[in-house]
Amino acid sequence: MQDLPNEYCELSSDELHARIAERKRELGARLCILGHHYQRDEVIRYADHRGDSLKLSQIASRQREAKYIVFCGVHFMAESADILAGEDQIVCLPNLRAGCAMADQADEDAVATALKELSALAGEGETVMPVSYVNSTAAVKAVTGRAGGACCTSSNVRNVFDWALRAGGATKILAVPDQHLARNTAVALGYTENDCVLYDPALPNGGLDAKQVKAATFILWKGFCYVHQVFRPEHIHAARAATPGIKVIVHPECPREVVALADESGSTSRIIKEIDEAPAGSAWAVATEANLVHRLAKQYPDKTIHLLGETAPANCVQMARIDLPHLLWCLDAIAADAPVNVIRVPKDIAADAKLALQRMIETQSG
Ligand code: SF4
Repeated sequence: MQDLPNEYCELSSDELHARIAERKRELGARLCILGHHYQRDEVIRYADHRGDSLKLSQIASRQREAKYIVFCGVHFMAESADILAGEDQIVCLPNLRAGCAMADQADEDAVATALKELSALAGEGETVMPVSYVNSTAAVKAVTGRAGGACCTSSNVRNVFDWALRAGGATKILAVPDQHLARNTAVALGYTENDCVLYDPALPNGGLDAKQVKAATFILWKGFCYVHQVFRPEHIHAARAATPGIKVIVHPECPREVVALADESGSTSRIIKEIDEAPAGSAWAVATEANLVHRLAKQYPDKTIHLLGETAPANCVQMARIDLPHLLWCLDAIAADAPVNVIRVPKDIAADAKLALQRMIETQSG
């Protein structure tokens, strides 16, 4: 891994902005910058497209004009872009240290082992299908694709679970890696928490016995997003006490007890849409990454928008590793035709991961 050259750390903010803007002009249509909603303001302003991971994957799969796709997000997103982009396109992540703490909680060998263990415990006539949140490594998506499973995002997870248990032929779903998204979705589909069991990859058989696996429909990987897990029911009680009538909207990566208490729950895109369509004068407490919530508050001054539990440290540290010095370094390298931090998913992994991504896309259009 190459480190950021020192010269970039010595530039002032004005110099960085001026040089990034100049590089963007110079590279023109050869360059496409994608920015995730959780990205910091000074970086996302240079994005040609903003979105959540689903929207950005779809853009990457359609964007054929630009030779270079610079992904201002985290590692798994850039991997998905590389899998879905054209053969001749090059995807760069400005800082390779921008990983995802949740994706890192599931590796491909552990998921493959879990599938074997759970199939044995479930017994004959049962089919355990993996469903991988897009917030997972390409290698985990490949294990999922090989096993006949699909990816999902927080926008389409209900459709994907529903597909898996009907047309997909699964009798049980192994949901990797976020336990909260899976539990909240199971309840939203009319199941109960008793239909879910937690698989701990640190324990033999995930800490489960045959009786528990046979009784469950959803087997939840013991993973979480530390940004969303920070929100607590007491934050909701405090927001309602401070502002009577405030609406609380939370991301489904939040714990079950938070989602159960909230007025609404939805993906990043749904949160943005709800706030956009809300009447002027309405008040909102939002439980998701702080950069997005603070940006919404600036964008809609006619509405009162707070981060739920204002003091909760709801910042994605990994996303913040993409900063102006790294972005400029990446653009300078592209301009010199010597790109740095190129994301290349090995062909065999990409092919199997694409199966899982494609199944997800098909459940949306089906
Ligand atoms: S907010 Fe959570 S899930 Fe999203 S990139 Fe950061 S650590 Fe990963």
